[in-house]
Amino acid sequence: MKKVYKLLLNTLPRPVLIRLSYIFRLFAPYLYKGNKVECPVCEKSFSKFLSYGSDVAHRDNVLCPYDLTLERHRLMWLYMKNESNFFSSQPLKVLHIAPEQCFHKRFKQQANLDYLTGDLVSPIADMHFDLHQIPLEDNRFDVVFCNHVLEHVNDAKQCMRELHRVMKPGGWGIMQVPQDVTRYETYEDASITTPEEREKHFWQYDHVRLFGLDYPDWLREAGFEVTEYKPIEHFSEETVERYRLMKKEILYIVHKK
Ligand SMILES: [Zn+2]
Repeated sequence: MKKVYKLLLNTLPRPVLIRLSYIFRLFAPYLYKGNKVECPVCEKSFSKFLSYGSDVAHRDNVLCPYDLTLERHRLMWLYMKNESNFFSSQPLKVLHIAPEQCFHKRFKQQANLDYLTGDLVSPIADMHFDLHQIPLEDNRFDVVFCNHVLEHVNDAKQCMRELHRVMKPGGWGIMQVPQDVTRYETYEDASITTPEEREKHFWQYDHVRLFGLDYPDWLREAGFEVTEYKPIEHFSEETVERYRLMKKEILYIVHKK
């Protein structure tokens, strides 16, 4: 059973998994009944989370069985809930690139948001466009999300400039990327083009670079001011463990002056 489950998790695309989760979530609360871990997004507690990731990047106890949030989704949510105006009554124009399915429906229904989603191909997005050239006017959005996209695009700096351009002065955003915190300089090599080589060098078959600790410098170069939000600076070790956050993950919050 465990093997079958692992095979499904690793072979099915995430959108399919999300659909399966609608069925699974009906009985997950019984299967994973308990109070050891808690998902701050769905506000449910479980005996444990599910495991997730390929053999190389396999992680135990990380995927919420109810709404399929991972560590990074829960960290982003906690920041937005505790430190931002996102869930206030303030009207906000929001651009969400490559919208995560665990957030998409909630944000769409949220009364204070004028919510627009964009993606190259995703069928759930309102608009389809290439991030190198966003077909939207300057200074339009109070909030911009673009998570786990910039490691896939040809010219990340150009995309960052575009994200900066469409943000209002005074706006903020979250742009998470997979980050190798053991290396300083972002690793790019245009000669690495096969899926196998890309997985080996950049952690996934369709990544074209692996960001290092200089990632926030890239964002600054595009015009953003950048602040860091780290789980260990805001929560006790027990809480980090209970929410199953990645201890070393750094959430970069971008601002436009
Ligand atoms: Zn959850």
